[in-house]
Amino acid sequence: MDEFNLIDAFFARHQSRRRDVVIGIGDDGAVVQPAAEHELVIATDTMVEGVHFDSTTPPRALGHKIAAVNISDLAAMGAEPSWLTLALTLPRVDRDWLEEFSAGLFEIADYYHCALVGGDTTRGPLTLTVTAQGQLPKGKAISRGKAKPGDWIYVSGDLGDAGLGLAVSQQRVEVASRHLKRVYDKLHYPMPRVALGQALRGIASACIDVSDGLLADLGQILKQSNCAAQVQIDKLPLSLALTETLEAEDALRYALTSGDDYELCFTLPEQHRGQLETRIAHTAIKPVCIGQVVGGDKGKIRLRDGADEWQFAAAVQPGYNHFNDND
Ligand SMILES: [Mg+2]
Repeated sequence: MDEFNLIDAFFARHQSRRRDVVIGIGDDGAVVQPAAEHELVIATDTMVEGVHFDSTTPPRALGHKIAAVNISDLAAMGAEPSWLTLALTLPRVDRDWLEEFSAGLFEIADYYHCALVGGDTTRGPLTLTVTAQGQLPKGKAISRGKAKPGDWIYVSGDLGDAGLGLAVSQQRVEVASRHLKRVYDKLHYPMPRVALGQALRGIASACIDVSDGLLADLGQILKQSNCAAQVQIDKLPLSLALTETLEAEDALRYALTSGDDYELCFTLPEQHRGQLETRIAHTAIKPVCIGQVVGGDKGKIRLRDGADEWQFAAAVQPGYNHFNDND
């Protein structure tokens, strides 16, 4: 058995409790049994060392995050995450690294009741790819393309903390020690909004997960829905970690343009507001209404502070990636 077969055996140790995995790791392909009258939702994301993370990132965080970002895409579609495959390219075989990486991956997979059903391992520059598959009842997927003028815009939680965590890890910003855990956890261990995504089935007109920054990701909804939006900067949910660390304008810059928060941004027609409240009444989910879809220039987002127009003093680039500005 060569060392890469050893790695495969390493991941095969994980036992999932899912009964819908007919054939899992160890065959030429996995066989799974989707639920009756359901559709499959499939998402893939890759993370490359030197592009999406640097060599100081803990391997446990990498395992968590490569699964989390994929599960987050499923959440944004309203799907229930079910199965994962992993393609791993490693420069060398390092047992300790694999222990930590797989622990991070399996923690989140188990949390969301997802089974790892297959994968591949090769030698090369460190590259992580997960494909996640989820299920939802036929016709219930939430796309980016059906927002309408008048719909309310919501986000599921605080924005900008992951960007702050990255700035702290790169020693561009210092935070008080009481905020350190929060900003690092938001950067390294995001928790996808799976329950909210499912609660939005049939009522949200559009949804996206915030991976590239609110302006960029909301912009995707607006472009695909052929609409514009007004966003109230005074309504954006900001953590104490963010507001106690940064000047007001910088805090807004992080909230609006830094990525990796993996909150959901969604649009909701007025007539479904009550239904959303009912569906989440007995949960810890507290989405915040931050603005409204309007007609006008496709993709344009106007910022307002109360009743007034608001602009950054210096121009911002939506979706600016703090790690790599070529992205
Ligand atoms: Mg996404």
